[in-house]
Amino acid sequence: MTRISEDLHDEVPEPMIGGNPCTELEWYESRKSTLGGGLTIRRALPLRELRMVGAWCFLDHFGPLSVQEREEAMWVGAHPHTGLQTVTWLLDGEVMHRDSIGSEQMIRPGQLNVMTSGHGISHTEETPVEHSEHLHGLQFWVALPHSVRDMEPAFEHHAQLPVVESDNTNIHVFFGKGFGGESPATAHSPMVGADIELNGTTTLTLDPTWEYGVVTVEDPIKVNGRTLSPGQFSYTPPGFNMMELSSEGPARVAVIGGEPFGEKILLWWNFVGRSQEEIVEFTKEWNSGDRFGEVEGFPGDRLVAPELRGVRL
Ligand code: MN
Repeated sequence: MTRISEDLHDEVPEPMIGGNPCTELEWYESRKSTLGGGLTIRRALPLRELRMVGAWCFLDHFGPLSVQEREEAMWVGAHPHTGLQTVTWLLDGEVMHRDSIGSEQMIRPGQLNVMTSGHGISHTEETPVEHSEHLHGLQFWVALPHSVRDMEPAFEHHAQLPVVESDNTNIHVFFGKGFGGESPATAHSPMVGADIELNGTTTLTLDPTWEYGVVTVEDPIKVNGRTLSPGQFSYTPPGFNMMELSSEGPARVAVIGGEPFGEKILLWWNFVGRSQEEIVEFTKEWNSGDRFGEVEGFPGDRLVAPELRGVRL
């Protein structure tokens, strides 16, 4: 692994907004949802009150769970995507990815899969036959800006990601750039995604023009002195230039951030679009077998896109 040593405590900046910064932060509860074969996930984004953080528009946290039958762990049949990137980061276990541009890639902890749908791609995700006892991970969606949202689909796997080390913190910068590291993965707008192994207190330097979100993945931590429990998500609006994270012992959190996206997007099922008409078209095209290609090798059924039936997005 690439290791970058950096003392994050050098020149800790003062908050740009006066008073106690945590009064400006917002805390949200994740929603529970199920995926594919019945895997229960916690969905931190989107929420009714908070649709996006930078270009990050979707955040699922699955596990930790013990894997008995693979069909009861990660088992998501062929489904399409438009207008986004899926960013998959595992903390434990493994997932096999297959897609309609011919990619077939196992992902393990510390590695990154980024699938860029562009104008259309389809994929499957499954717990492989040979698997570990546990599965635990995160999957994010990143909205593509208008200028590139119709690009050709692409897939990237990165086996090595930068780790920024300081006394009591390892920061895995898996996507974008920030906190002293830069991911090799292709990002299309200014943003960062990091998995932080924390043991004690650390101060992150923020870009005050960006917004940020924190999700705990194992143990409770404190964000600027306030407890954030697993299943909760904290949002930091633009205007801050630091964030203090602290834990009683070893803990793990994901921090995402980015420049406010500035474009209105519509999310329906697995599609990111810009208009109702477009989403209706994507739904029809998937259900009639157009646009999104075919995924080879997944031993299960393809998913059916739900019709909008009068739903106004
Ligand atoms: Mn997907």
